[in-house]
Amino acid sequence: MKIGVLALQGAVREHCNSLVACGVEPVEIKYQEQLEGISGLVIPGGESTTVGKLLVQYNMLELITEKGRRGLPIFGTCTGLILLAKEIRNSNQPRLGLMDMTVERNAFGRQIASFEADLEIKELGATPFHAVFIRAPYISEVGTQVEVLARIDNKILLARENNFLAAAFHPELTDDLRLHQYFIEMCDKL
Ligand code: GLN
Repeated sequence: MKIGVLALQGAVREHCNSLVACGVEPVEIKYQEQLEGISGLVIPGGESTTVGKLLVQYNMLELITEKGRRGLPIFGTCTGLILLAKEIRNSNQPRLGLMDMTVERNAFGRQIASFEADLEIKELGATPFHAVFIRAPYISEVGTQVEVLARIDNKILLARENNFLAAAFHPELTDDLRLHQYFIEMCDKL
């Protein structure tokens, strides 16, 4: 199975390594044509305003949105989560807008721009998931179709809506493959 990794900016190689470790073939996506023949798409962390602009420039914003609407599984981490959201608080930056949720960018403040936390994620089993956050966003509101998979207090950090999965943290920076495996199962089923 081939899984695309959007390769305009950000932690591309780390996601590719995690996918290889899961036994699937990563495909770096820089141009439209490369979106053909993939069973899912990962949108890595980076800077969401930059990636959004590049998606427009490279004529991929509408195309990926359309493929997502037609069922292509998309896994957004950090910047990817922001781009998946319909609402980005105080911002009109370009986005895919595929998930019915509101996100807050750089939401943990300067003091704790980066931190790590163990998250309970029922779908991944009893062992907590060690999550790395880097200038992370969180989800503050979700629509009724969105499943909340992990949260700390009122901050939602992992969510799924049908074929879309969004994480506020960076699973590609640890060697815990469970979340990539979870996404690959989504790609298998859809
Ligand atoms: N703060 C970044 C943004 O707004 C996201 C950070 C990340 O992807 N690690 O896009």
